[in-house]
Amino acid sequence: MLQQVNGHSSGPNAHGGELREDLQEFLGQDAPLHLLDDLTKVNPVTLETVLRCLQARYMADTFYTNAGCTLVALNPFKPVPQLYLPELMKEYHAAPQPQKLKPHIFTVGEQTYRNVKSLIEPVNQSIVVSGESGAGKTWTSRSLMKFYAVVAASPTSWESHKIAERIEQRILNSNPVMEAFGNACTLRNNNSSRFGKFIQLQLNRAQQMTGAAVQTYLLEKTRVACQASSERNFHIFYQICKGASVEERLQWHLPEGATFSWLPNPERTLEEDCFEVTREAMLHLGIDTPTQNNIFKVLAGLLHLGNVRFADSSDEAQPCQLMDDAKCSVRTLASLLCLPEDPLLETLQIRTIRAGRQQQVFRKPCSQAECDTRRDCLAKLVYARLFDWLVSVINSSICAEPNSWTTFIGLLDVYGFESFPDNSLEQLCINYANEKLQQHFVAHYLRAQQEEYTVEGLEWSFVNYQDNQTCLDLIEGSPISICSLINEECRLNRPSSAAQLQTRIESALAGSPCLGHNKLSREPSFIVVHYAGPVRYYTAGLVEKNKDPIPPELTRLLQQSQDPLLKVLFPTEEKSQEEPSSQSRTPVLTVVSKFKASLEQLLQVLHGTTPHYIRCIKPNSQGQAQTFLLEEVLSQLEACGLVETIHISAAGFPIRVSHQNFVERYGLLRRLHPHTSPGPYSPFPDEGHSGWSPHAKEAMLQPLLQDILHTLPALTQAATPG
Ligand code: ATP
Ligand code: MG
Repeated sequence: MLQQVNGHSSGPNAHGGELREDLQEFLGQDAPLHLLDDLTKVNPVTLETVLRCLQARYMADTFYTNAGCTLVALNPFKPVPQLYLPELMKEYHAAPQPQKLKPHIFTVGEQTYRNVKSLIEPVNQSIVVSGESGAGKTWTSRSLMKFYAVVAASPTSWESHKIAERIEQRILNSNPVMEAFGNACTLRNNNSSRFGKFIQLQLNRAQQMTGAAVQTYLLEKTRVACQASSERNFHIFYQICKGASVEERLQWHLPEGATFSWLPNPERTLEEDCFEVTREAMLHLGIDTPTQNNIFKVLAGLLHLGNVRFADSSDEAQPCQLMDDAKCSVRTLASLLCLPEDPLLETLQIRTIRAGRQQQVFRKPCSQAECDTRRDCLAKLVYARLFDWLVSVINSSICAEPNSWTTFIGLLDVYGFESFPDNSLEQLCINYANEKLQQHFVAHYLRAQQEEYTVEGLEWSFVNYQDNQTCLDLIEGSPISICSLINEECRLNRPSSAAQLQTRIESALAGSPCLGHNKLSREPSFIVVHYAGPVRYYTAGLVEKNKDPIPPELTRLLQQSQDPLLKVLFPTEEKSQEEPSSQSRTPVLTVVSKFKASLEQLLQVLHGTTPHYIRCIKPNSQGQAQTFLLEEVLSQLEACGLVETIHISAAGFPIRVSHQNFVERYGLLRRLHPHTSPGPYSPFPDEGHSGWSPHAKEAMLQPLLQDILHTLPALTQAATPG
């Protein structure tokens, strides 16, 4: 049984606000900070004590800490192999009460595994792993997948073991492949995932893993054609260039020492550059060598596309000409993508417009900037389709037969809240997702607390707690919200400046308390006050990004390719969905609306599960071991909503003392107030009688708590010498 002591002085707790402060000293803090394995046990629960506790634990090489129903995972930034040994996985798996072992991701893993095992009512589980870039989300998800591969493996006969090994191995093999194509070296993480991922690990009635299904979100496809300085393109491009054999280099036109504009910083050698690992994993997933070679040939083509440069045309009626050194690139590109060279070049240089009743075709030469945009768009289009196709191939390779699984454990490795000096549509989508996940978390957390209080027979209501619905209304609400206004601009397809969009947002949504005032910025922007803090979004380019227009000529061009892979990616029978009829006013599917739909789908899945949360924290941005920077951690605690969690727990009963400990500690008070109860150390009448309900015990403790307060001065006096 838990005994709760009142929390927040401003909270709605009926027991009064002063008690906690008085009790803090009395309860003391005798455990060394690094031994406190649950942040809700630090006393008092403040940001400072939480930070100090995490710091003490980090410096003592303790990387996992509970925070109520969340697990905080600090990135060790050094190998800690002993933490992830299969023997340790088995120890957590075999423990009668894994939550009594040291906090670990395996505790969460085992808890979810036991929950799905429940014979009464098996429930799907999910683990939401969040945190900022480089905090360790992907590492954590990977380690959990390895954990399930060990504890949920199919047992017994050699043959069935081999099959089981294959499916588990395949599922694990999806990681290096997806990371090669979807991860990149950024300023913040050498192996940064540039997409969100939800993987469902499917279990049969015997709780063995029979398959998995992957869903990805918002691949950062712009990276293929545009990399920030000091960053890199997706790993796979470097893997090909470094790992191809002499013959492959010849086939893919990648001579040793060749330079590519879209391959910045190739001199950096990363652990992730291992081509062989990717190829091997692809083989395991059933992607044979000829198909792999086809993929790499197309990717080599994209590298050559990046070297295509146009000269500015002095005559608007004439198409921009290729720069001299780009002619060879176009030829190589055409041969690698199996496209006719002239139409390829023309597609990049000339826009076709259909207009009038007869849908007459007009040809308009593009400016140099437009040619560049079309070139980049071609690369993004091919890469995004290739990535989606790869995910579908992986899914067909690892997905279990529909009737061979009954429950699942979902792992969500999702980009954390982002706030940069320059935020745009990508950050809006990411922060919108985080806002939704935070709402889901809070709803679950409150529900879990309420249930606990009900079991304990305590009356409680979180009347003071404000959730983030107001912010969500501002972003996605109906009928008017930021998303709807940006979509409206796309639908109307009218010329609209960044300043106009800012004004429209500010005037239409002026009433929202979550819309901050745009005072300091000279560039048009708006501010959203997220649960994790205010973020300024710049409106320039927002509508265009939301449209993500793909010139229909590009799709038509790719449909002409004789390359087997491109034929699959761009089937001729597909009516170019990007081709809007000039008369139709049907809204094109915008980035925001697609993202919103996939997010809603994800949340629907999450709602059907029991969620668990792992908040990854990066102790410093330099990636150094044994370095804990208080300010950096603080801002992450705020951004991952841990501060909110602490507030919620402070609004409830943040201090929980077990009944046993309470009796041991305060039993002596009975002597000072003999009328309270009989028995030497128990505050309860007849402690040997086990029939007291938690509610009854709580009721009996109420006067005792009051007693403690009244007794404090007497105790202090008694303890003072002389
Ligand atoms: P992003 O959002 O950019 O994808 P992320 O949160 O997925 O970031 P990871 O790629 O998982 O971050 O971790 C970054 C790096 O930190 C890893 O490549 C690894 O070097 C190190 N790391 C993370 N967790 C651990 C761990 N538990 N033990 C050792 N090293 C770790
Ligand atoms: Mg990652």
